[in-house]
Amino acid sequence: MANAKAYSATSATSPLAATQIQRREPTDRDVQLEILFCGICHSDLHAVRNEWNEFMPTQYPIVPGHEIVGRVTKVGSAVTKFKPGDLGAVGCMVDSDRTCPRCRRGLENFCPNMILTYNSPDKHLGGVTYGGYSESIVVDEHFVLRVPQNLDLAGAAPLLCAGITTYSPMRHWGVSEGKKVGVIGLGGLGHMAVKFGHALGAHVVVFTTSPSKKEDALRLGADEVVLSRNADEMKKHAGSFNFILDAVSADHDIRPYVNLLDLDGTLTLVGAPPEPLRVAAMGLIFGRRSVSGSAIGGIPETQEMLDFCGQHNITSDVEVIPIQKVNEAYDRLLKSDVKYRFSIDMASLKQK
Ligand code: NAP
Ligand code: ZN
Repeated sequence: MANAKAYSATSATSPLAATQIQRREPTDRDVQLEILFCGICHSDLHAVRNEWNEFMPTQYPIVPGHEIVGRVTKVGSAVTKFKPGDLGAVGCMVDSDRTCPRCRRGLENFCPNMILTYNSPDKHLGGVTYGGYSESIVVDEHFVLRVPQNLDLAGAAPLLCAGITTYSPMRHWGVSEGKKVGVIGLGGLGHMAVKFGHALGAHVVVFTTSPSKKEDALRLGADEVVLSRNADEMKKHAGSFNFILDAVSADHDIRPYVNLLDLDGTLTLVGAPPEPLRVAAMGLIFGRRSVSGSAIGGIPETQEMLDFCGQHNITSDVEVIPIQKVNEAYDRLLKSDVKYRFSIDMASLKQK
C-alpha cells in the first residue's frame, strides 16, 4: 500500500480539505496512474453534500472525482494495454462483475455490481473507493481508457464523464444529420452535448436560463439558442424536436419541454436533480412521446467516444484551477457560473 495526497470532505456540510489516503499496490491486472487532471462534475457536489441520500447515501470521508487523466507509473504483470509512461484515463467506474448479460454487451455502466470510482465498496482495501481528487489511483486495466495523443489533457479529463454521458444517449437515440436536437442547461454536460450534436450533424438548439451564455452556445456549435424562461420563445418550437437531452442539475419543470417533442420524440434525463420531476400524462400520450434516462456509458463506447474526440479534435472548454480552489468552484457551480468545466491541475496537490 502507498500513501497518496488527496482532498476529501468529512461530512455533508464540511468543505473539502487536504488529507492522506491509501492506494493498493497494483495487482497483476492493475494500472497505477499519476493523476494529472481531474474534472469537477456536478455529481461530485451532489455526492459530497449527500444530496442523493435516498438513492446512494454518501459514506464519509469522501474523495470525489471521476474525470481522471493521468500518466501510467506502474502496471501489473498481466496488463497488456498499457506500459509505464503511457497516458491513461479513468471515468465513473472502476469495476463490475464482467459476467452479467449487461457486462457481456459492454454495458458495464448498467451492471448491477458496478463499482463507482468513489463512494462504492472497495473489495481490495475495505471501506469505500476514493476518486480522482488525489495524486494517484490504481485501477483494473479493463476500466482504464486510452487518450488520443492530440488532445489537450486538461480539456480531455471531462470527457470521461461529461463527454460519455452526453455522447452515449445521443448515439443510442440516433442523433444525426436531419434531426432536431435540444440541449437543456449549458453547464459541463450541456456544452459537451452541444459539441457532439454539432459534430454528429444535427440541428442543435440550446435551452438556457442564462442570457449571458447565448454567444457561447453559438460558438460551441448550437444553431439556435432559446431563453427557457421566455414562454413565447419556447412555444415557437412546439412539437418539433426528435430528441432533447436534459442536463440540468437542479429542480425544474420538464413539462414545457415534453410539449416541444415531435411524434415519437424522446426527452432523456442525464441531469440528476435530487427531487422527483413532474410529468403530464397528456403531454406524453398525444404524440407517443417518452421521457427516459441514461447513465454514463460502457467501456467500449467510452473508448469510441474518446477516439471520436481525437478525430474531431473535441475537448471540454475548461477553466483550470488548483485543488486549493475546489470549494470556490463548487460555489460557482451552484450559481451556474462555470465555463464550462473546472479541471483541477493535480500538480497543485504538491503545494502546501
Ligand atoms: P453544471 O455544470 O453545474 O451544469 C448544470 C446547468 O444546469 C447549469 O449550468 C445551468 O445551465 C442549468 N441549471 C442549473 N440550475 C438550474 C435551474 N434551477 N433551473 C434550470 N436550469 C438550471 O452540472 P453538470 O456537471 O453538467 O451536471 C449536470 C447534472 O447531470 C447533475 O445533476 C449531475 O449530477 C448529472 N450527471 C449525470 C450523469 C449521468 O450519468 N446521468 C453523469 C454526470 C452528471 P444554464 O445556465 O444554461 O441554464
Ligand atoms: Zn460526472
